[in-house]
Amino acid sequence: MSLDTPKVTFKRVMLKISGEALMGDQGFGLHPPTVERIAREVKSVHDLGVEICMVIGGGNIFRGLQGSAQGMERTTADYMGMLATVMNALAMQSALEQLGIHTRVISAITMNEVAEPYIRRRAVRHLEKKRICIFAAGTGNPYFTTDTAATLRANEMNCEAIFKGTKVDGVYDKDPAKYPDAKRYETVTYDDVLAKRLGVMDASAIALARDNNLPIIVFSLDEPGGFKGILSGHGTSTRVQG
Ligand code: UDP
Repeated sequence: MSLDTPKVTFKRVMLKISGEALMGDQGFGLHPPTVERIAREVKSVHDLGVEICMVIGGGNIFRGLQGSAQGMERTTADYMGMLATVMNALAMQSALEQLGIHTRVISAITMNEVAEPYIRRRAVRHLEKKRICIFAAGTGNPYFTTDTAATLRANEMNCEAIFKGTKVDGVYDKDPAKYPDAKRYETVTYDDVLAKRLGVMDASAIALARDNNLPIIVFSLDEPGGFKGILSGHGTSTRVQG
C-alpha cells in the first residue's frame, strides 16, 4: 500500500445528506455544480472500495410540514416531499454516472419508469457489485423524515455507520453559527442527543439507530475531501453512539 493510500476500515456505509446540501447558495432547488461537487466527494470514497448507500432529503424542494402549516392536508404534503427526494436522487444519479460510477435509484414508492422498487436482497446485490444505491422517496410513509429513512435502510443494508454530511463539522452544545463559544462533542450518546435535543436527526431516527447500535457520524460536507477524510480517520466530526 502506498503511503498516501488512506486506511479505511469501513466496508459499507450510509451517506445521508439533506436536500438543502444540493441547492448551493440559491436558497431553493438544485444547483448542478454543487451536485457534481458532492458526487466527486462520493466518488473519492467509492474509489477506495467502500460500498455506499445514499439517502438525500427533499427540503430544497418541498417539506411536508411546511406545506401542511400553509393549509395542505398533511399526508398529501408529505407525499409531495417524498417525490421531491426522488428528483434529488435522480440528479445525484446523473452526476455520479457522469463520473463513471454505476448507480441505482431505489424508490420506496413504486414508479417503475423512473426508479427500481425497493427489494432488499436486490439492493444488497447491487452493493456487492459496487453500485451505489440511492434510496429515494423516504420510507414511503407520511409522518417520517429522510433521516429515519436513512437509518432504516442503513440497518436493512447492514451498514456499519451512517455518515451525516452537514454544514458544520459535528454536533455542538449550541448553534456554532450564533455562539462563538459553542463546543463540539467528540462523541455523544443517543440518549444525550434526545434529552438535550441536539438536533442531529429527528427523535425517531435517533431511537432507531440507538435500538440497533448503529453509529451516526456527523461531519462537514462543505470541507473539500471531507467525506474521504472522515472515513479514513482524519478531520473533525462527532460520533453519536451508545
Ligand atoms: N417524507 C415523508 N416520509 C419519509 C421521508 C420524507 O413524508 O419517509 C417527506 C416529509 O414531508 C419531508 C420531506 O419528505 O418533509 C422531505 O424530507 P426531509 O424533510 O427529511 O428532507 P431534508 O430535510 O433531509 O432535506
